[in-house]
Amino acid sequence: MSILIKNIKELLQVRDTNISVVKGKDMKILPSIKNAYLLIDHDTIVDYGSMDTIQDLNAEKVIDATGKIVLPTWCDSHTHIVYAGNREQEFVDRINGLSYEDIANRGGGILNSAEKLQNTSEENLYLQSAERLKKVISLGTGAIEIKSGYGLTIDGELKMLRVIKRLKKEFPVKVRATLLAAHAIPKEFKDNKTAFVNLVIDKMIPEVAKEKLATYIDVFCEKGYFDLEDTERILKAGKEHGLIPKIHVNQFNAFGGVDVGVKHQALSVDHLEEMNQDDIDVLKNSDTMPVALPSCSYFLSIPYTPARQIIDAGLPLALATDYNPGSTPSGNMNFVISTACIKMKMTPEEAINAATINGAYAMGIENMYGSITKGKKANLIITKQIPSYGFLPYAFGDNNIDQVIINGQTI
Ligand SMILES: [Zn+2]
Repeated sequence: MSILIKNIKELLQVRDTNISVVKGKDMKILPSIKNAYLLIDHDTIVDYGSMDTIQDLNAEKVIDATGKIVLPTWCDSHTHIVYAGNREQEFVDRINGLSYEDIANRGGGILNSAEKLQNTSEENLYLQSAERLKKVISLGTGAIEIKSGYGLTIDGELKMLRVIKRLKKEFPVKVRATLLAAHAIPKEFKDNKTAFVNLVIDKMIPEVAKEKLATYIDVFCEKGYFDLEDTERILKAGKEHGLIPKIHVNQFNAFGGVDVGVKHQALSVDHLEEMNQDDIDVLKNSDTMPVALPSCSYFLSIPYTPARQIIDAGLPLALATDYNPGSTPSGNMNFVISTACIKMKMTPEEAINAATINGAYAMGIENMYGSITKGKKANLIITKQIPSYGFLPYAFGDNNIDQVIINGQTI
């Protein structure tokens, strides 16, 4: 099936030759074609250009995008959408004055999600997760990374990763799986964290690698969770089994985790709400993508990742949702982009670059996703009729998406 989209008010993120990442000052540049057309053949972008230059194109279906903007779908490189139940009671507890730590100490937080997950069948877990995935696709997400981490046992982690594998099979969007066994320390290991780290290294990583259930290895590197030594040991073990590091780091404390990530060639270091100059310097000499999760800062009322400091130092930045039941019960990339502009002082161009091509890099799929380039997958957002692309972050909380196309198919 071929589709011609014509009379596009503006076609965004047009890259004639593919680039893998946009950094520093270049993030302010978002190449586009006004009054454009785009041609899709099966699942691939095969041609585009100005309407003035359009040839006699034969297409089985024609979409008239008069007044509408077309851009690549969002690449959400950091989520935890496979989980059981919700935690709105903890949300209310926080409103009433309890801290994240208070809640964790009474068995809430990640351990609460882990208990719910234990008591949920794989089928039910799949159904709950599939609903979330459907919703984020309708909000323009065309590629998504999904982590384990609420299992905290071998069986629990395998259950989550099998659900991710099934989502990958059943849905047309690109899905990448990450083993985040070291997400929290289970109750049984409260006084013996090393034994749990050993379990992750000796049992979980080899089993997951053997079943080929994950591409990435992740660790929640934070005070009170997994320290630098634990993180190094787990990343090393993951790499020995062919898993690529991507880590949670600097959410509450900057204590050298970025350095550990870069040392182990992490594809991305995520969160970064707390950054010092050493972290910036270390990233400058690396291929590691910094990833900001502004919805998490919004929901927890913690500082935002210092995007200006990162970008003005010449670094790239990607944006993702962190969709999870505790700190970010939202997978809306449009909200992420608005919040990045409003709270992190990113320009709309920077935010869109961060949520498309840089997000694709942060999940290792920049060759096929993240820009309007011939040969790439036809994963596209067609907006409603809007005055300009700056209207997308400006009209925060609105849904200005008219249609989503995934692999050349209208969703
Ligand atoms: Zn996360």
